Amino acid sequence: MSGRRKFIKSGVLGGLALGAGSLPTLSCAREQGDSQKPVVISTWRHGMEANAGAWPILAANGRAVDAVEKGVMVTEADPNNSTVGIGGFPDRDGNVTLDACIMDEFENCGSVAFLQNIKHPISVARKVMDDTPHVMLVGEGARRFAVEKGFKEENLLTPKAEKAWKKWLTTKNYKPIINVENHDTIGMLALDSNGNLSGACTTSGAAWKMHGRVGDSPIIGAGLFVDNEVGAATATGLGEFVIKICGAHMIVELMRQGYPPMEACKEAVERIVRKYKKDYMDLQVGFLALSKSGEYGAHAIHKGFDYAVKSNSQNELIDAKSYTG
Ligand code: ASP
Repeated sequence: MSGRRKFIKSGVLGGLALGAGSLPTLSCAREQGDSQKPVVISTWRHGMEANAGAWPILAANGRAVDAVEKGVMVTEADPNNSTVGIGGFPDRDGNVTLDACIMDEFENCGSVAFLQNIKHPISVARKVMDDTPHVMLVGEGARRFAVEKGFKEENLLTPKAEKAWKKWLTTKNYKPIINVENHDTIGMLALDSNGNLSGACTTSGAAWKMHGRVGDSPIIGAGLFVDNEVGAATATGLGEFVIKICGAHMIVELMRQGYPPMEACKEAVERIVRKYKKDYMDLQVGFLALSKSGEYGAHAIHKGFDYAVKSNSQNELIDAKSYTG
């Protein structure tokens, strides 16, 4: 990733050590975000354009769930983005397989995984949520459902992605590189002017993954979780490790206990670090959270994770703090 350097200096919470049984208190530190609504936050640099896509709905007092769907569709439609939607890097057999999920203010949720040939998996996930008795459809079943709902099938493997895949085939080395554009999901969380929360998460997953591999992004509770009483969280990075700690759900539950968003994300990062001591130096995971009152925060294992924030008073890219500095 490049061109994303608006560093928000560490505030009071940056140096806060949590003793056993003590809960972090809310701080005025800017990186916790001000209480505000509406507000939309998204992972990575591409979150800036996605937030811009979501904003007209929020500005018109629309529903957060409509805003997050519309917002991440901007990223899904960008053929130059190699980590989401069309143009996503394929699996090791050359297939672009997409994962996405969405969750609304009533805690309804919908998800698709291992979906092929459909450019907007987030909208298929929305249809699963709105039009079926299920939460998740995968693979061929998800594709058939999408076609029945009127989605057009198309080839999602762009010449650029195919070229990158052919280059990868010369080494066949599967080792996701930290912060390099082979695994940068868009996760988006929004609080609308009625005070309702929703979230969306969509990805082409880890580049060069095994055929059939599904990461955290379409898994409710791992890549995304929303509880309209408390807050919402989303994740990016090597999904296997987000799934192992039920990342997004854990963060929302910590917020329920009183953790501010950034501290909840930090705790989730530290859980991965503690449990996977041998692995964490070689993998990146970033978490992003938004509270019911509009405070936001993020944390990552390594430097380089950034996120975009848009509200009536803000439109910026922020570097998240990280465990390794
Ligand atoms: N979390 C996604 C996955 O593991 C990819 C990413 O965000 O980097 O599929």
